Amino acid sequence: MPSRPVITITVWLGAIPALAIVALLVSGVVHPRLGVIGLIGTALWSAGAGLILARDLAAFRRSIEDASLDQLHFITPGLNTLALNAIRAITVERDKLNRLVPAAAANQALLDRLPDALFRLDREGGARRVVWQNPSAEGAFGADAQALLRHPGLRAAIVEAEMAEQPVRVSIGLAAPVPRDLDAVLIRAADGPGAPLFLLLSDRTRERGLDRMRQDFVANASHELRTPLTSLIGFIETLRGPAAGDAEASQQFLGIMAEQADRMQRIIADLLSLSRIEMMEHQPPEQRVSIARVLKEVAGFMAPLLDRQETRLELALPDGLPDLRGDAGQLTQVFTNLLDNAIKYGKRGGTVKIETTLTPTEQLPLPGILIDVIDDGLGIAREHIPRLTERFYRVDKGRSRTVGGTGLGLAIVKHAVSRHRGRFMIESSENIGTKCRVWLPLAPEAEKGLTDTQMMVTRKG
Ligand code: ADP
Repeated sequence: MPSRPVITITVWLGAIPALAIVALLVSGVVHPRLGVIGLIGTALWSAGAGLILARDLAAFRRSIEDASLDQLHFITPGLNTLALNAIRAITVERDKLNRLVPAAAANQALLDRLPDALFRLDREGGARRVVWQNPSAEGAFGADAQALLRHPGLRAAIVEAEMAEQPVRVSIGLAAPVPRDLDAVLIRAADGPGAPLFLLLSDRTRERGLDRMRQDFVANASHELRTPLTSLIGFIETLRGPAAGDAEASQQFLGIMAEQADRMQRIIADLLSLSRIEMMEHQPPEQRVSIARVLKEVAGFMAPLLDRQETRLELALPDGLPDLRGDAGQLTQVFTNLLDNAIKYGKRGGTVKIETTLTPTEQLPLPGILIDVIDDGLGIAREHIPRLTERFYRVDKGRSRTVGGTGLGLAIVKHAVSRHRGRFMIESSENIGTKCRVWLPLAPEAEKGLTDTQMMVTRKG
């Protein structure tokens, strides 16, 4: 059975000459026998030509599909050159596509993984609309993306970017839903003010917060040191001037001066400890430490202060507490600061307890040791608890100074515990007492440790 292309080509080739012969036959111009021979000849020629042409076209199609020059043996004139040109064009396009597809996939992966938010803004009806955004933008701004463009700073930057040759940069602050500091860059994708614009938003909230904290810290530290220094200078002047020769006043003033100098020394020592701990915070400690030995040692140092405050210390140490991986010096400092606070801010004549629990427990499902330092003092009002680990934050400045506080003790605790990948929690009830809880893992993991220090607020009664 001849195939459909063969029949089609045969009919197309043979139809017109056959019709012409039939017309000549009907009009009697051609002898009937000659007409029949003509018709048979036309049929044979068109069927032969149809076969050859259909075979060549099928081979042509295969050559194009495979884009291979192997099957180029055409009888039909001109088909060879046509196939050759088509295959060359196809090969060039295919090579281009082979280069473009991986490049496009890499570009897409880059946009998908870009940590900063990226938007494409097209001009529609005179206004800019967000027509595309990457996953970071989706995560950071969700459905608010269009509302973002109403920010006056961004609106002005968009107008400027439509005219400017260079990318336009602007820093903006968002108040809601959470306060954020953002750096925006607007890049025009092509020439002309109506060309698409790309908006890249980088969140600088953390960096700006750290900058502010650093500035506050320098201001606070110099203020904390300036106060005793001013007092010292004042007393020196008094001793050299009006009080010169007054032995009684001199003794009294020298006593105050020694206290002030002592305070400055404590602040400087605490600042140095804090910066040393912060410098190594990313590096978990390596030593094997017996927490029982650390706690016994701290209790020993604190004996004079306990006596002065008439405070009783109850240290409960279960047998067989395992050693943990830590920094003995830093852990000594942690528990010295906590015990010092418990005695200083605890009740005169009261009791301070140190309790240790081996975890996992229901609250802390990881292997570690939980150490609670509990006092029965005045306690801390709920609103102060989340801020206690800030440098120089004190609930009652006057009281902290009278008891010799620097306002840095709990900041040191927080950073040292964080270096041990542990947790620090404060639970307190006013007029009942305070429980400072330190949880330390037995072996702090370098990568997936608990780097956050949690503050828990509990109010009893
Ligand atoms: P300071 O050197 O002033 O004691 P800290 O950083 O150790 O500084 O503590 C910060 C503040 O937290 C203290 O000024 C005090 O107001 C409060 N505080 C700390 N521990 C206790 C506690 N056990 N009971 C009551 N208040 C406490």
